[in-house]
Amino acid sequence: MEQTQTKKVYILGGGFAGIRVAHLLSDSGKDLEINLIDRHPYHINAPVLYEIANAFVPWELEAVGRVLTDVATAPYAKIFDGTSVNFMQGVISGIESKTGKFYLTDGHTETPDFMIISLGSQAQTSDTPGANNHAFTLRGLDDAVALRKHIISLFLRYRVASLMAQQKAFTFVIAGGGPTGVEYASELALFVKKLCRLHRVASDIPKIILCEETDYVLHACPGMLRNIGHERLRKLGVQMRAHTKVVTVHSDGVEIAGGVIIPTFTTVWLAGTRVNDVLLRSNFPLNTTGGLVTDKNLVVSGSTNIFVAGDCTYFIDPITGKVAPDVAWAALQQAEVVAENIIRRLEERPLMSYFSNHRPLLIAVGGKFALARIGPFQFSGLLAWVVKQLADLRYLWSILPNMMAVRYWMKSLRVKISND
Ligand SMILES: Cc1cc2nc3c(=O)[nH]c(=O)nc-3n(C[C@H](O)[C@H](O)[C@H](O)COP(=O)(O)OP(=O)(O)OC[C@H]3O[C@@H](n4cnc5c(N)ncnc54)[C@H](O)[C@@H]3O)c2cc1C
Repeated sequence: MEQTQTKKVYILGGGFAGIRVAHLLSDSGKDLEINLIDRHPYHINAPVLYEIANAFVPWELEAVGRVLTDVATAPYAKIFDGTSVNFMQGVISGIESKTGKFYLTDGHTETPDFMIISLGSQAQTSDTPGANNHAFTLRGLDDAVALRKHIISLFLRYRVASLMAQQKAFTFVIAGGGPTGVEYASELALFVKKLCRLHRVASDIPKIILCEETDYVLHACPGMLRNIGHERLRKLGVQMRAHTKVVTVHSDGVEIAGGVIIPTFTTVWLAGTRVNDVLLRSNFPLNTTGGLVTDKNLVVSGSTNIFVAGDCTYFIDPITGKVAPDVAWAALQQAEVVAENIIRRLEERPLMSYFSNHRPLLIAVGGKFALARIGPFQFSGLLAWVVKQLADLRYLWSILPNMMAVRYWMKSLRVKISND
Protein backbone atom coordinates (compact mmCIF):
# COMPACT_ATOMS: atom_id res chain seq x y z
CA MET A 1 0.00 0.00 0.00
CA GLU A 2 1.28 3.49 -0.88
CA GLN A 3 2.31 5.52 2.17
CA THR A 4 1.69 9.24 2.15
CA GLN A 5 4.47 11.32 3.64
CA THR A 6 3.73 13.76 6.44
CA LYS A 7 3.81 17.26 4.92
CA LYS A 8 5.93 19.88 6.63
CA VAL A 9 4.20 23.21 7.24
CA TYR A 10 6.19 26.22 8.39
CA ILE A 11 4.39 29.33 9.61
CA LEU A 12 6.71 32.33 9.69
CA GLY A 13 5.50 34.84 12.32
CA GLY A 14 3.23 34.22 15.31
CA GLY A 15 0.87 37.21 15.20
CA PHE A 16 -2.91 37.00 14.89
CA ALA A 17 -2.66 35.47 11.40
CA GLY A 18 0.08 32.90 12.11
CA ILE A 19 -1.41 31.60 15.36
CA ARG A 20 -4.87 31.26 13.86
CA VAL A 21 -3.57 29.26 10.85
CA ALA A 22 -1.60 27.02 13.23
CA HIS A 23 -4.68 26.25 15.37
CA LEU A 24 -6.91 25.59 12.37
CA LEU A 25 -4.40 23.21 10.78
CA SER A 26 -3.85 21.46 14.10
CA ASP A 27 -7.63 21.00 14.51
CA SER A 28 -8.00 19.70 10.93
CA GLY A 29 -6.66 16.26 11.83
CA LYS A 30 -4.59 16.17 8.62
CA ASP A 31 -1.24 14.41 8.58
CA LEU A 32 0.84 17.57 8.94
CA GLU A 33 3.95 18.53 10.86
CA ILE A 34 3.04 22.09 11.91
CA ASN A 35 5.85 24.44 12.93
CA LEU A 36 5.52 28.09 13.89
CA ILE A 37 8.59 30.33 14.12
CA ASP A 38 8.74 33.71 15.83
CA ARG A 39 11.59 35.87 17.06
CA HIS A 40 9.97 36.23 20.49
CA PRO A 41 8.96 33.45 22.91
CA TYR A 42 5.59 35.19 23.27
CA HIS A 43 2.86 36.66 21.09
CA ILE A 44 2.50 40.44 21.34
CA ASN A 45 -1.06 41.75 21.44
CA ALA A 46 -0.48 44.93 19.37
CA PRO A 47 -3.94 46.52 19.88
CA VAL A 48 -3.15 47.12 23.58
CA LEU A 49 0.26 48.75 22.99
CA TYR A 50 -1.02 52.31 22.96
CA GLU A 51 -2.73 51.64 26.30
CA ILE A 52 0.52 50.23 27.71
CA ALA A 53 2.37 53.34 26.51
CA ASN A 54 -0.15 55.52 28.38
CA ALA A 55 -0.88 53.41 31.44
CA PHE A 56 -1.21 55.42 34.63
CA VAL A 57 -0.86 52.64 37.17
CA PRO A 58 -0.04 53.65 40.69
CA TRP A 59 1.95 50.56 41.63
CA GLU A 60 5.60 50.46 42.51
CA LEU A 61 7.72 50.55 39.29
CA GLU A 62 8.96 46.95 39.18
CA ALA A 63 5.46 45.60 39.65
CA VAL A 64 4.12 47.94 37.00
CA GLY A 65 6.68 46.60 34.52
CA ARG A 66 5.47 43.05 35.18
CA VAL A 67 1.77 43.87 35.00
CA LEU A 68 2.18 45.69 31.69
CA THR A 69 4.25 42.85 30.21
CA ASP A 70 1.60 40.34 31.28
CA VAL A 71 -1.13 42.32 29.55
CA ALA A 72 0.64 42.58 26.21
CA THR A 73 2.29 39.17 25.86
CA ALA A 74 1.12 35.56 25.77
CA PRO A 75 3.79 32.78 25.75
CA TYR A 76 3.59 30.46 22.72
CA ALA A 77 4.28 27.49 25.01
CA LYS A 78 0.91 28.13 26.68
CA ILE A 79 -0.91 29.06 23.46
CA PHE A 80 0.01 25.75 21.80
CA ASP A 81 -0.17 23.54 24.89
CA GLY A 82 -2.22 20.45 24.00
CA THR A 83 -2.06 21.06 20.22
CA SER A 84 0.15 19.47 17.56
CA VAL A 85 1.92 22.77 16.82
CA ASN A 86 5.70 22.95 17.41
CA PHE A 87 6.90 26.40 18.38
CA MET A 88 10.46 27.39 17.45
CA GLN A 89 12.04 30.65 18.55
CA GLY A 90 14.24 32.12 15.82
CA VAL A 91 14.80 35.14 13.63
CA ILE A 92 14.07 34.63 9.94
CA SER A 93 16.72 36.35 7.85
CA GLY A 94 15.68 35.47 4.30
CA ILE A 95 13.37 33.43 2.10
CA GLU A 96 14.07 32.17 -1.43
CA SER A 97 10.97 33.16 -3.33
CA LYS A 98 11.32 30.41 -5.97
CA THR A 99 11.97 27.37 -3.76
CA GLY A 100 10.45 28.51 -0.44
CA LYS A 101 13.71 27.68 1.34
CA PHE A 102 14.15 29.99 4.31
CA TYR A 103 17.02 30.92 6.59
CA LEU A 104 17.30 31.76 10.26
CA THR A 105 20.03 34.01 11.65
CA ASP A 106 21.50 31.02 13.55
CA GLY A 107 22.24 29.29 10.22
CA HIS A 108 19.26 26.89 10.33
CA THR A 109 17.50 26.40 6.95
CA GLU A 110 14.33 24.58 5.92
CA THR A 111 12.41 23.93 2.71
CA PRO A 112 8.80 23.29 3.76
CA ASP A 113 6.05 21.63 1.74
CA PHE A 114 3.76 24.53 2.71
CA MET A 115 4.85 27.93 3.92
CA ILE A 116 2.68 30.65 5.43
CA ILE A 117 4.25 34.09 5.56
CA SER A 118 2.67 36.06 8.38
CA LEU A 119 5.50 38.36 9.41
CA GLY A 120 3.38 41.47 9.93
CA SER A 121 4.64 44.94 9.00
CA GLN A 122 7.03 47.60 10.28
CA ALA A 123 6.72 51.31 10.99
CA GLN A 124 7.24 53.38 7.85
CA THR A 125 9.98 55.59 9.27
CA SER A 126 12.66 55.17 6.62
CA ASP A 127 11.33 57.85 4.20
CA THR A 128 11.51 60.71 6.69
CA PRO A 129 14.95 61.99 7.75
CA GLY A 130 15.54 61.54 11.47
CA ALA A 131 12.44 59.41 12.09
CA ASN A 132 14.42 56.17 12.41
CA ASN A 133 16.67 57.63 15.08
CA HIS A 134 14.56 60.17 16.92
CA ALA A 135 10.92 59.10 16.71
CA PHE A 136 9.23 56.61 19.01
CA THR A 137 7.21 53.86 17.36
CA LEU A 138 4.63 51.46 18.74
CA ARG A 139 5.34 48.16 17.07
CA GLY A 140 6.46 46.07 20.04
CA LEU A 141 6.23 45.86 23.81
CA ASP A 142 9.69 47.43 24.20
CA ASP A 143 8.54 50.45 22.15
CA ALA A 144 5.48 50.97 24.34
CA VAL A 145 7.41 50.59 27.59
CA ALA A 146 10.20 52.94 26.37
CA LEU A 147 7.68 55.61 25.33
CA ARG A 148 5.87 55.42 28.66
CA LYS A 149 9.15 55.65 30.59
CA HIS A 150 10.25 58.62 28.46
CA ILE A 151 7.06 60.59 29.19
CA ILE A 152 7.18 59.82 32.91
CA SER A 153 10.87 60.86 33.00
CA LEU A 154 10.04 64.19 31.30
CA PHE A 155 7.56 64.95 34.08
CA LEU A 156 10.08 63.98 36.76
CA ARG A 157 12.76 66.15 35.16
CA TYR A 158 10.72 69.21 34.21
CA ARG A 159 8.07 69.40 36.92
CA VAL A 160 10.07 72.33 38.32
CA ALA A 161 11.51 74.29 35.39
CA SER A 162 11.07 77.54 33.50
CA LEU A 163 7.88 77.99 31.51
CA MET A 164 9.83 77.78 28.24
CA ALA A 165 11.53 74.54 29.25
CA GLN A 166 8.21 73.06 30.36
CA GLN A 167 6.49 74.09 27.13
CA LYS A 168 9.10 72.22 25.11
CA ALA A 169 9.25 69.17 27.39
CA PHE A 170 5.46 68.82 27.51
CA THR A 171 4.84 69.16 23.79
CA PHE A 172 4.11 65.80 22.19
CA VAL A 173 3.94 65.44 18.41
CA ILE A 174 2.24 62.47 16.82
CA ALA A 175 2.80 61.83 13.13
CA GLY A 176 -0.20 60.09 11.54
CA GLY A 177 -3.86 60.94 12.08
CA GLY A 178 -5.28 57.51 11.22
CA PRO A 179 -6.95 55.21 13.78
CA THR A 180 -3.70 54.28 15.59
CA GLY A 181 -2.56 57.93 15.84
CA VAL A 182 -5.98 58.96 17.14
CA GLU A 183 -6.16 56.13 19.68
CA TYR A 184 -2.69 56.97 20.96
CA ALA A 185 -3.15 60.77 21.02
CA SER A 186 -6.49 60.65 22.84
CA GLU A 187 -5.25 58.27 25.53
CA LEU A 188 -2.04 60.31 25.86
CA ALA A 189 -4.18 63.38 26.61
CA LEU A 190 -5.71 61.56 29.60
CA PHE A 191 -2.34 60.17 30.73
CA VAL A 192 -0.74 63.63 30.60
CA LYS A 193 -3.63 65.10 32.57
CA LYS A 194 -3.00 62.54 35.34
CA LEU A 195 0.75 63.24 35.30
CA CYS A 196 0.11 67.00 35.49
CA ARG A 197 -2.03 66.50 38.56
CA LEU A 198 0.55 64.17 40.16
CA HIS A 199 3.49 66.52 39.50
CA ARG A 200 1.59 69.80 39.96
CA VAL A 201 2.27 71.01 36.43
CA ALA A 202 -0.25 73.58 35.17
CA SER A 203 -2.71 71.70 32.97
CA ASP A 204 -2.64 74.36 30.23
CA ILE A 205 1.09 73.84 29.50
CA PRO A 206 1.12 70.42 27.76
CA LYS A 207 0.34 70.32 24.04
CA ILE A 208 -0.54 67.23 22.06
CA ILE A 209 -0.24 67.87 18.34
CA LEU A 210 -1.60 65.31 15.90
CA CYS A 211 -0.16 65.86 12.41
CA GLU A 212 -1.96 64.38 9.41
CA GLU A 213 -0.72 64.71 5.85
CA THR A 214 -4.14 64.35 4.16
CA ASP A 215 -7.22 66.60 4.36
CA TYR A 216 -8.54 65.27 7.65
CA VAL A 217 -7.57 63.44 10.79
CA LEU A 218 -9.46 60.12 10.51
CA HIS A 219 -9.76 60.62 6.76
CA ALA A 220 -10.86 57.02 6.17
CA CYS A 221 -13.82 57.36 8.58
CA PRO A 222 -17.34 58.09 7.35
CA GLY A 223 -18.16 61.84 7.70
CA MET A 224 -20.48 61.64 10.69
CA LEU A 225 -18.13 59.49 12.77
CA ARG A 226 -15.18 61.61 11.73
CA ASN A 227 -16.89 64.76 13.00
CA ILE A 228 -17.71 63.09 16.31
CA GLY A 229 -14.11 61.92 16.54
CA HIS A 230 -12.82 65.46 15.90
CA GLU A 231 -15.14 66.88 18.55
CA ARG A 232 -13.95 64.30 21.06
CA LEU A 233 -10.28 65.01 20.29
CA ARG A 234 -10.85 68.75 20.73
CA LYS A 235 -12.57 68.11 24.05
CA LEU A 236 -9.55 66.12 25.20
CA GLY A 237 -7.27 68.99 24.19
CA VAL A 238 -5.62 67.31 21.19
CA GLN A 239 -4.63 69.83 18.49
CA MET A 240 -5.34 68.41 15.03
CA ARG A 241 -3.25 69.66 12.13
CA ALA A 242 -4.44 68.38 8.75
CA HIS A 243 -2.38 68.97 5.57
CA THR A 244 0.64 68.77 7.83
CA LYS A 245 3.41 66.43 6.79
CA VAL A 246 6.23 65.85 9.24
CA VAL A 247 9.33 66.51 7.13
CA THR A 248 12.26 65.92 9.50
CA VAL A 249 12.53 64.60 13.05
CA HIS A 250 15.30 65.89 15.32
CA SER A 251 16.06 64.90 18.91
CA ASP A 252 14.69 68.25 20.11
CA GLY A 253 12.04 69.15 17.56
CA VAL A 254 10.21 68.31 14.37
CA GLU A 255 10.08 70.21 11.13
CA ILE A 256 6.69 70.25 9.47
CA ALA A 257 5.74 71.36 5.94
CA GLY A 258 6.55 75.03 5.36
CA GLY A 259 9.79 74.82 7.36
CA VAL A 260 8.03 75.38 10.72
CA ILE A 261 9.87 73.80 13.67
CA ILE A 262 7.93 72.50 16.66
CA PRO A 263 10.25 72.20 19.69
CA THR A 264 9.69 68.83 21.38
CA PHE A 265 11.56 65.86 22.82
CA THR A 266 8.75 63.50 21.88
CA THR A 267 7.73 62.55 18.35
CA VAL A 268 5.65 59.40 18.03
CA TRP A 269 5.61 57.87 14.56
CA LEU A 270 2.26 56.32 13.70
CA ALA A 271 2.17 57.33 10.04
CA GLY A 272 1.85 54.16 8.07
CA THR A 273 3.55 50.82 7.85
CA ARG A 274 5.72 49.00 5.36
CA VAL A 275 6.53 45.42 4.62
CA ASN A 276 8.88 43.44 6.85
CA ASP A 277 12.60 43.77 5.98
CA VAL A 278 12.86 40.02 5.36
CA LEU A 279 10.47 40.30 2.43
CA LEU A 280 12.28 43.33 1.00
CA ARG A 281 15.45 41.21 0.85
CA SER A 282 13.74 38.14 -0.58
CA ASN A 283 12.82 38.98 -4.17
CA PHE A 284 9.07 38.51 -3.67
CA PRO A 285 6.49 40.42 -5.76
CA LEU A 286 5.84 43.53 -3.66
CA ASN A 287 3.59 46.45 -4.51
CA THR A 288 4.90 50.02 -4.31
CA THR A 289 3.84 50.47 -0.69
CA GLY A 290 5.53 47.21 0.14
CA GLY A 291 2.79 44.57 0.59
CA LEU A 292 3.32 41.02 -0.61
CA VAL A 293 1.19 40.58 -3.73
CA THR A 294 -1.09 37.54 -3.71
CA ASP A 295 -3.66 35.97 -5.98
CA LYS A 296 -7.32 35.61 -5.00
CA ASN A 297 -6.54 32.47 -2.99
CA LEU A 298 -3.88 34.22 -0.88
CA VAL A 299 -1.13 32.29 -2.66
CA VAL A 300 1.94 34.48 -3.26
CA SER A 301 1.89 35.46 -6.92
CA GLY A 302 4.16 33.16 -8.95
CA SER A 303 4.33 30.35 -6.35
CA THR A 304 2.24 27.27 -5.55
CA ASN A 305 2.55 26.44 -1.89
CA ILE A 306 3.61 29.76 -0.36
CA PHE A 307 0.64 31.46 1.27
CA VAL A 308 0.41 34.83 2.95
CA ALA A 309 -1.84 36.23 5.69
CA GLY A 310 -2.08 39.34 7.86
CA ASP A 311 -0.46 42.77 7.64
CA CYS A 312 2.22 41.73 5.14
CA THR A 313 -0.46 40.93 2.53
CA TYR A 314 -1.29 43.27 -0.34
CA PHE A 315 -4.74 42.25 -1.53
CA ILE A 316 -7.28 44.29 -3.48
CA ASP A 317 -10.81 43.08 -2.90
CA PRO A 318 -12.39 42.29 -6.28
CA ILE A 319 -15.83 43.57 -5.15
CA THR A 320 -14.98 46.80 -3.32
CA GLY A 321 -11.72 47.55 -5.18
CA LYS A 322 -10.23 48.47 -1.79
CA VAL A 323 -7.03 47.17 -0.27
CA ALA A 324 -7.58 44.76 2.65
CA PRO A 325 -6.75 46.76 5.78
CA ASP A 326 -3.99 46.04 8.31
CA VAL A 327 -6.27 45.13 11.21
CA ALA A 328 -6.74 42.09 13.41
CA TRP A 329 -10.05 40.92 11.91
CA ALA A 330 -8.57 40.96 8.37
CA ALA A 331 -5.56 38.93 9.60
CA LEU A 332 -7.93 36.38 11.19
CA GLN A 333 -10.15 36.19 8.07
CA GLN A 334 -7.12 35.62 5.87
CA ALA A 335 -5.85 32.95 8.25
CA GLU A 336 -9.13 31.02 7.83
CA VAL A 337 -8.82 31.13 4.03
CA VAL A 338 -5.15 30.08 4.07
CA ALA A 339 -5.79 27.12 6.41
CA GLU A 340 -8.76 26.00 4.30
CA ASN A 341 -6.71 26.29 1.10
CA ILE A 342 -3.86 24.19 2.48
CA ILE A 343 -6.40 21.48 3.34
CA ARG A 344 -7.91 21.79 -0.15
CA ARG A 345 -4.45 21.49 -1.74
CA LEU A 346 -3.90 18.26 0.21
CA GLU A 347 -7.28 16.97 -0.99
CA GLU A 348 -6.59 18.21 -4.55
CA ARG A 349 -9.73 20.36 -4.51
CA PRO A 350 -10.10 23.86 -6.05
CA LEU A 351 -8.98 26.63 -3.70
CA MET A 352 -11.37 29.14 -2.12
CA SER A 353 -11.18 32.89 -2.82
CA TYR A 354 -10.69 35.60 -0.23
CA PHE A 355 -13.02 38.59 0.03
CA SER A 356 -12.41 41.41 2.48
CA ASN A 357 -15.70 43.22 1.97
CA HIS A 358 -16.94 42.92 5.56
CA ARG A 359 -15.32 45.97 7.14
CA PRO A 360 -16.22 46.82 10.75
CA LEU A 361 -14.59 50.00 12.04
CA LEU A 362 -13.88 50.39 15.76
CA ILE A 363 -11.70 53.23 17.03
CA ALA A 364 -11.18 54.14 20.70
CA VAL A 365 -10.93 57.89 21.31
CA GLY A 366 -9.74 58.20 24.90
CA GLY A 367 -11.35 56.75 28.02
CA LYS A 368 -14.57 54.79 27.61
CA PHE A 369 -15.43 56.38 24.27
CA ALA A 370 -15.17 54.91 20.79
CA LEU A 371 -16.42 55.28 17.24
CA ALA A 372 -18.09 52.29 15.61
CA ARG A 373 -19.39 51.34 12.20
CA ILE A 374 -20.76 47.84 11.94
CA GLY A 375 -22.61 47.05 8.73
CA PRO A 376 -25.11 49.89 8.18
CA PHE A 377 -24.91 51.07 11.82
CA GLN A 378 -22.76 53.96 12.98
CA PHE A 379 -22.59 54.91 16.65
CA SER A 380 -20.22 56.36 19.20
CA GLY A 381 -19.60 56.81 22.94
CA LEU A 382 -19.76 54.22 25.70
CA LEU A 383 -21.76 51.66 23.69
CA ALA A 384 -19.18 51.75 20.89
CA TRP A 385 -16.41 51.35 23.49
CA VAL A 386 -18.14 48.27 24.95
CA VAL A 387 -18.50 46.80 21.45
CA LYS A 388 -14.79 47.46 20.82
CA GLN A 389 -13.83 45.64 24.02
CA LEU A 390 -16.01 42.68 23.02
CA ALA A 391 -14.37 42.67 19.58
CA ASP A 392 -10.94 42.61 21.28
CA LEU A 393 -12.10 39.65 23.37
CA ARG A 394 -13.24 37.89 20.22
CA TYR A 395 -9.81 38.42 18.60
CA LEU A 396 -8.12 36.97 21.68
CA TRP A 397 -10.54 34.03 21.64
CA SER A 398 -9.52 33.25 18.07
CA ILE A 399 -5.90 32.68 19.05
CA LEU A 400 -5.74 31.82 22.76
CA PRO A 401 -7.30 29.01 24.79
CA ASN A 402 -10.71 30.24 26.10
CA MET A 403 -9.86 30.88 29.75
CA MET A 404 -6.50 32.38 28.88
CA ALA A 405 -8.23 34.80 26.48
CA VAL A 406 -10.65 35.90 29.20
CA ARG A 407 -7.83 36.37 31.72
CA TYR A 408 -5.80 38.48 29.26
CA TRP A 409 -8.82 40.52 28.33
CA MET A 410 -9.67 41.25 31.99
CA LYS A 411 -6.08 42.29 32.68
CA SER A 412 -6.06 44.56 29.64
CA LEU A 413 -9.34 46.19 30.75
CA ARG A 414 -7.65 47.14 34.02
CA VAL A 415 -4.91 48.98 32.10
CA LYS A 416 -7.40 50.50 29.65
CA ILE A 417 -9.35 52.22 32.40
CA SER A 418 -6.24 53.34 34.31
CA ASN A 419 -6.51 56.90 32.98
CA ASP A 420 -10.25 57.30 33.59
C1 LIG B 1 -0.27 50.21 18.20
C2 LIG B 1 -1.20 49.34 17.38
C3 LIG B 1 -2.57 49.34 17.66
C4 LIG B 1 -3.44 48.57 16.91
N1 LIG B 1 -4.77 48.56 17.22
C5 LIG B 1 -5.61 47.75 16.56
C6 LIG B 1 -6.98 47.68 16.91
O1 LIG B 1 -7.45 48.37 17.83
N2 LIG B 1 -7.79 46.82 16.21
C7 LIG B 1 -7.30 46.05 15.19
O2 LIG B 1 -8.05 45.27 14.60
N3 LIG B 1 -6.01 46.10 14.82
C8 LIG B 1 -5.15 46.93 15.48
N4 LIG B 1 -3.83 46.97 15.12
C9 LIG B 1 -3.37 46.17 13.98
C10 LIG B 1 -3.21 44.70 14.35
O3 LIG B 1 -2.43 44.59 15.51
C11 LIG B 1 -2.54 43.99 13.19
O4 LIG B 1 -3.36 44.12 12.05
C12 LIG B 1 -2.33 42.51 13.49
O5 LIG B 1 -1.48 42.37 14.60
C13 LIG B 1 -1.74 41.83 12.27
O6 LIG B 1 -1.44 40.51 12.57
P1 LIG B 1 -0.26 39.78 11.79
O7 LIG B 1 -0.33 38.36 12.22
O8 LIG B 1 -0.29 40.07 10.35
O9 LIG B 1 1.08 40.49 12.28
P2 LIG B 1 1.69 40.72 13.71
O10 LIG B 1 0.68 40.60 14.78
O11 LIG B 1 2.48 41.97 13.59
O12 LIG B 1 2.69 39.48 13.88
C14 LIG B 1 3.86 39.32 13.13
C15 LIG B 1 4.78 38.38 13.89
O13 LIG B 1 5.94 38.15 13.08
C16 LIG B 1 7.08 38.11 13.93
N5 LIG B 1 8.25 38.46 13.12
C17 LIG B 1 8.44 39.55 12.37
N6 LIG B 1 9.64 39.51 11.75
C18 LIG B 1 10.24 38.37 12.14
C19 LIG B 1 11.47 37.75 11.82
N7 LIG B 1 12.35 38.30 10.99
N8 LIG B 1 11.74 36.55 12.38
C20 LIG B 1 10.85 35.96 13.23
N9 LIG B 1 9.67 36.49 13.54
C21 LIG B 1 9.35 37.68 13.01
C22 LIG B 1 6.76 39.16 15.00
O14 LIG B 1 7.51 38.92 16.18
C23 LIG B 1 5.26 38.97 15.21
O15 LIG B 1 4.98 38.06 16.25
C24 LIG B 1 -2.93 47.76 15.86
C25 LIG B 1 -1.56 47.74 15.57
C26 LIG B 1 -0.69 48.52 16.33
C27 LIG B 1 0.78 48.48 16.02
